[in-house]
Amino acid sequence: MNGKKLHLIPLGGLGEFGMNCMAVRWGDDIIVIDAGLMFPESELLGVDIVVPDITYLLENRDKVRAIVLTHGHEDHIGALPWILSEINIPVWGTEFTLAFVENKLEEHKLLDQAVLNEIVPGERFTVGPFTIHPIQVTHSLVDCVSLALHTPLGVVIHTGDFKVDATPTDNKLFDLHTFAEYGKQGVLALLQDSTNIERSGYTPSERAVYNKFDEVFNRASQRIFVSCFSSSIHRIKLTLELADRYHRKVALIGRSMNESAEIAQDLGYLDMPDGLLIHPGEIKNLPPQRVCVLISGTQGEPMSALSRAAVDNHKHAKINSGDTVVLSSRIIPGNERPIYRMIDHLFRREAHVIYEDGSKPPIHVSGHASREELKLLINLVKPRYFIPIHGEYRQLKLHAKLAASMEGAVGQVMMIESGEILEFDELGARKLGRVPVGRVCIDSGSMGEVVEDMIIKDRRLLSEDGIVLPIIAINKLTGRVETSPEIVMRGFAGAPADNGFVAEARETVMRTLEVSSDEEKGDYGVIKEKIRQDLKRYITKNTARRPLIMPVILEV
Ligand SMILES: [Zn+2]
Ligand SMILES: [Zn+2]
Repeated sequence: MNGKKLHLIPLGGLGEFGMNCMAVRWGDDIIVIDAGLMFPESELLGVDIVVPDITYLLENRDKVRAIVLTHGHEDHIGALPWILSEINIPVWGTEFTLAFVENKLEEHKLLDQAVLNEIVPGERFTVGPFTIHPIQVTHSLVDCVSLALHTPLGVVIHTGDFKVDATPTDNKLFDLHTFAEYGKQGVLALLQDSTNIERSGYTPSERAVYNKFDEVFNRASQRIFVSCFSSSIHRIKLTLELADRYHRKVALIGRSMNESAEIAQDLGYLDMPDGLLIHPGEIKNLPPQRVCVLISGTQGEPMSALSRAAVDNHKHAKINSGDTVVLSSRIIPGNERPIYRMIDHLFRREAHVIYEDGSKPPIHVSGHASREELKLLINLVKPRYFIPIHGEYRQLKLHAKLAASMEGAVGQVMMIESGEILEFDELGARKLGRVPVGRVCIDSGSMGEVVEDMIIKDRRLLSEDGIVLPIIAINKLTGRVETSPEIVMRGFAGAPADNGFVAEARETVMRTLEVSSDEEKGDYGVIKEKIRQDLKRYITKNTARRPLIMPVILEV
């Protein structure tokens, strides 16, 4: 083997939530598994997305052969535009995953030069020294795969995200047989999803939410609004089926919701009877009990359709007393405040809000395997080395502990974090050192309704373009803006020297405040985002710079 070694190098996702990306290297050949993003932890950060530092890939530019994707969730494909704009390499993914990728690359004007190769579960393909076998698995999204990498040292299985759903809504089954087959032949290493290590038992099937949805449709006497992740094809499918059965027309609101429904329909995951879909503009013409709205914004994102509807600021989605609003998703840690703020607004409109509160039957089920499923897969695969992936540090640690307790099934457990190199050769496995990793913040322009170009390369170093802080004093009791906004700038070299620029920036902020309702002004998440977008538009128009804009609200 010419002294070549196998290196597994997580560039993100191990020890943090999101940004899944792993380099696998044999000699002078590197493939990358997944290229995910992370959503910023706090709305204060003032950036839209966070992507992994890919210095390691750039330094080894001539060795990187491909990016192979396990599935189409943002924490696995969201950094693709950023990575491909730095290093254009072929991308491999399943049909559905690639459809998501195409949309994303199109939006960033990168599709023309991209090389996309479709993979089919069960059909092997070869990249450099690696033969890769995609194995069909079940998850909250459709068309997901684990990857069995045949390397010169043995087979490495990367699970991607999964749960073992015995009754997936698309009837595409988890391929347990293939995992068992590999277990019989011998597996060098198993890299397994750690997300739900803290949950005992089994994760319920996607079909488990059916009863709750049916109950909602059965009882609702007014409009029904259903919000889920736009990638939750299983939930969209269920909503369409029930709406049809209960004689409601369906309007899709939100760009991402429309895009993913279109993809799912094109690829045969949804069948929409003629006349089921209506344009959002038609909602007002139908009796409330004949309407169902699929709307994006389940995480309380300030500019999303549902957040805006919640403060009565959406053209078509008007939420009235007696309407039902279903949030069929989990509350992603860190998003509690904006989500509960949005739910409060919905309560104020006298809507029935149904969200994950632990009651049965569930309105949402996880897409990740719980402990019994994790153990099942370990038992089937019986790896020589076990490496927990996709989790925060405690989850990786608990997963490592679980695997270590399964002595009959696991040889040795290795724990690594993002940036650490795990080296394998004929003698065994060891940690070798580190590569640079980290988080790169990207301000992509508005990710919401307005699509702007993503000038990501310019955003590499936020410090280059400086920071602009609009400071607004709002009276807590009256909601009134007390004084003229202050604009503080640091390291913002592009700002014209005269004071006219600052004065106009201040006026821009004032105008945003003037056209916002009291409810919007009372919701700091919403008002900050509106100020940020308007001010950004002004600055981009008048300077060549794209500074980081972080509105600060002072309650007085
Ligand atoms: Zn996923
Ligand atoms: Zn994931």
